[in-house]
Amino acid sequence: MEYDKDNIFAKLLRGEIPADKVYEDADILAFRDINPQAPVHILIIPKHAQIRCLGECTEAEALILGKMNVAAARIAEQEGLESFRIVVNSGTKAGQTVFHIHMHLLGGREFAESII
Ligand code: 5GP
Repeated sequence: MEYDKDNIFAKLLRGEIPADKVYEDADILAFRDINPQAPVHILIIPKHAQIRCLGECTEAEALILGKMNVAAARIAEQEGLESFRIVVNSGTKAGQTVFHIHMHLLGGREFAESII
């Protein structure tokens, strides 16, 4: 399903709002979260795939989802993180607020407890 034209990350991809970019390739853009929950808090989004949330993804999107994970690992390395946490919120009740699929890369502090 297509993104809402007012979607904040779609606007960011169109260059209508600024982003503190840390990584970009043909498929992916990564930028710092505006409200960081850790010293390193980076959001990783697909540039072209129209996926509102992980719960709505299809088999055809497996490659871009894999690329987002690989990019997260490379960015963690680039940021000097030995350990890091990846979070993907899917759906309102899981805390998703922006309906343009994104992965949170968090690091630079201890996450003492696992949340699962
Ligand atoms: P969600 O709650 O949907 O999993 O995550 C959305 C994230 O987007 C939040 O962590 C929020 O701080 C971040 N965010 C919302 N608006 C902006 C923005 O305009 N720029 C950036 N860099 N991050 C944003």
